[in-house]
Amino acid sequence: MKVVVCGAGIAGLAAAGRFAARGDEVVVLERAPGPRPQGYMIDFFGPGHQAAAATGLLPLLRERGYQVREVAYLDAAGRRRAGLPFARFAASRGGDLISIMRPDLEAALAEHLPDRVDLRYGATVVTVDDDEDGARVVLDDGAAVEADLVVGADGTRSVVRRQVVGPDRGVVRRLGFHTAAFTVDEPRVHAALRGRFCVTDTANRMVGAYGLRDGRVAVFTVHRSTDGQPADPRAALRAEYGGLGWVVPRVLELCPPGERVYYDEVVQVEAARWRGRRVVLVGDAAHAVSLLAGQGASLAVAGASVLADRLDATRSVADGLAEYEARWRPVVTAVQRSARRGMRWFLPETPGQLLVRRMALRLAVLPVVNRVVVGVAAGSPVDLDAVLADRTASATGVRT
Ligand SMILES: Cc1cc2nc3c(=O)[nH]c(=O)nc-3n(C[C@H](O)[C@H](O)[C@H](O)COP(=O)(O)OP(=O)(O)OC[C@H]3O[C@@H](n4cnc5c(N)ncnc54)[C@H](O)[C@@H]3O)c2cc1C
Repeated sequence: MKVVVCGAGIAGLAAAGRFAARGDEVVVLERAPGPRPQGYMIDFFGPGHQAAAATGLLPLLRERGYQVREVAYLDAAGRRRAGLPFARFAASRGGDLISIMRPDLEAALAEHLPDRVDLRYGATVVTVDDDEDGARVVLDDGAAVEADLVVGADGTRSVVRRQVVGPDRGVVRRLGFHTAAFTVDEPRVHAALRGRFCVTDTANRMVGAYGLRDGRVAVFTVHRSTDGQPADPRAALRAEYGGLGWVVPRVLELCPPGERVYYDEVVQVEAARWRGRRVVLVGDAAHAVSLLAGQGASLAVAGASVLADRLDATRSVADGLAEYEARWRPVVTAVQRSARRGMRWFLPETPGQLLVRRMALRLAVLPVVNRVVVGVAAGSPVDLDAVLADRTASATGVRT
C-alpha cells in the first residue's frame, strides 16, 4: 500500500515508521524547509514510551534524553518554595519516563526510519481528495501525490482535517493560555538550574527553564490570555513576563527574534470524525490534548501504533480506520478532560491556589497525597497494551 503522511512532526514521523515497518511505501510531506529547531522539553512516558519500547526506539531516546532531578518551584529571589522529585513522578508511571527536547525526539524518530521512506521537506499540502479507490494530495506548487491512504499528521491547524471533517468551528477548543519556548546561551543561568526543571511559583503566568547538555538553556513560558497570536512574540513575552524576578529579566533580554521563538495559543482539538474513506488523522491534528496534559507527544506516538496495529489486524482500510478511532478516541477524550480539570494546578489563578499547590507538593512525601498530586499533574495512566489487546472497542486503556 502507498501511504502519504502529511506533516513530519512527532505524529507524522511515528506513523511513517510504523507504516514502513509494515512494508508499505511511505512518502512524508513536510511544509517546513527542514527539521524544525524550535523546541521545549517533553516528558515522554506512558503509552508513547510503551510504543517506543516495542519498536526499538528507546535506546536512541535514552541517549538523547535528560534525567531531570525535580520540578522546582522558585520565588522571585530564586529560592525553592516547593518541588516534585522526578523519581517519584516517574515511579508512578512504572519508572518509564524520558525528558527530551522536541527537536531531539523528532530527530530520533527520523533517524529510526528506514532509508526507503521518502521524507520531503518544503512540501506544503493544500488539498486532499478522498475517493473510494484512492486518495490524492495536492501541494502548493501544484504537484499531486497519489496514495492508497493519506495520514493527516499536520498539527492543530490541520489542512487535512478541514478536508475530512469540514471547518474548524467547534473543533478547536481554546483553553485561554498562550505558550512560548526558546533557547538562550547564558552560563550563569545554566549553572543556577543544577539539573532541575525550575519554574516560577507565580499565578497566571509562569516561566520555566532547564539547562541543556550543550550549555544552552531551554526556556518555556505559559500565561493566561484570550487574545490572538501577537505580531511580535518577543515583544509580547517581554511585556507579559518582564515583572517576574529570578532569571526571567535576563532570559527575556536574550530571547531571540522572529521564528526562533515558538509561540502558540494552547488548544485542544475535538474533531467529530478522524477519518474519511482513505484519509485518517493522527496526533494533534485529530486530538491535541494540550501541554496541560503533558502527554500529546506520547499519545501521538502511541496513536500511530494503534492505527498500524488495527490495519494489520483487520486487513481492510475501512475497518482498520474505524477500529483505530473506536479504540483510541476514548483514551484521548479522557486525557483531554483530565487536562482541563488540572488547569488550576498547572497555572494557579490566585495566591490562595498557589498556596494550596505548595502545600500539596510538600505533603506529597505521603504516598496517598503523592498519588493525588501526580494524578492531577499528569492525569490517569494510559496502558497501550490494554488498548491493543483484542478486547471490545470500548476498552479505554485508562487506569483509574
Ligand atoms: C510547550 C509545550 C510543552 C509540551 N510538553 C509535552 C510533554 O511534556 N509531553 C508530551 O507528551 N507532550 C507535550 N506537548 C505536546 C506535544 O508537543 C504535541 O502534542 C506534539 O508535538 C504533537 O505532534 P504532532 O506531530 O501531532 O503535531 P505538530 O508537532 O504540530 O506537527 C505537525 C507538522 O505538520 C507540519 N504541517 C502543518 N501543516 C502542513 C501542511 N499543510 N503541509 C505539510 N506539512 C504541514 C508542521 O510543519 C509540523 O511539522 C507539549 C506541547 C507544548 C506546546
